[in-house]
Amino acid sequence: MRGVIARLGPAWRTIAAHGAGAPQVLNWLGQCQTAAALFAGDIKMRGSVSVQLRAPSTVGTLFGECTDAGTVRAIARTVPGATLPARLDAVGGDALLAITIERPGGLRYQGLVPLEGERLEQAFEGYFERSEQLPTAIRLAATDTVCAGMLLQQVPDEGGHGDRAPSADFERLGFLFRTVTDEELLTLAPETVLRRLFVEDDVRLQPGRRLAFACSCSRERVERVLLSLGEPEARAALDAAGAMAVRCEFCGQGYAFDRSMLDRLFHPPAAAPGADRRSDGPAGA
Ligand SMILES: [Zn+2]
Repeated sequence: MRGVIARLGPAWRTIAAHGAGAPQVLNWLGQCQTAAALFAGDIKMRGSVSVQLRAPSTVGTLFGECTDAGTVRAIARTVPGATLPARLDAVGGDALLAITIERPGGLRYQGLVPLEGERLEQAFEGYFERSEQLPTAIRLAATDTVCAGMLLQQVPDEGGHGDRAPSADFERLGFLFRTVTDEELLTLAPETVLRRLFVEDDVRLQPGRRLAFACSCSRERVERVLLSLGEPEARAALDAAGAMAVRCEFCGQGYAFDRSMLDRLFHPPAAAPGADRRSDGPAGA
């Protein structure tokens, strides 16, 4: 068996402070963020893992991401006036739950998770069991100040063959795993949680990694978004004084643009004559 345990305190409080939402929204967003951290820790590959729940009629969009560098960020775009259902399987027929892995070089893999079960953790368990054929147990918990989770997975037989059905060991450990309470997950040190759950088993805890809030936004990325919107739409966003401020939804960073900046963005000045001529001498370098 292998497992991952994650807990976010200060990083989660930073995220929660950016997008103040109803307690239930924060609870679900914290679970999405924790799930992204667990899956990133599970696959241990370069790139990022994100979890997105989109339900236009009830929730809006919840998005949590964790990168291989240990940075996390999350965002909730809620539907004004909509009521969040208590159960995952009641979020609506238009809902979508996805796990996306983005690798360096733009490679992208997305798995769609059927919206089954009362809680997100049940939907993820079902996904890993069916799509990845890996018996998996998941627990997720979140408040507005801390979020935490744990994942237990049956390691495929060496060589990749063999029965992928849950082993007797997985059944036993999975049963113990599911006895962990939200409070234990949210408040106890990982060592303590594992020692309490698996008293009779040999649990080896590998060195952990610090997770911190960080945003990957930049002026260049905002410019790319404006370019993809197209010139008429970008210009339409200018106010009467010919200015606009684009605000990053993840971190609150503002990026200001005015008419002349859009001119240069959509109509970059032609390179000066000879600017692209190559030269061996330092003068042309
Ligand atoms: Zn940002």
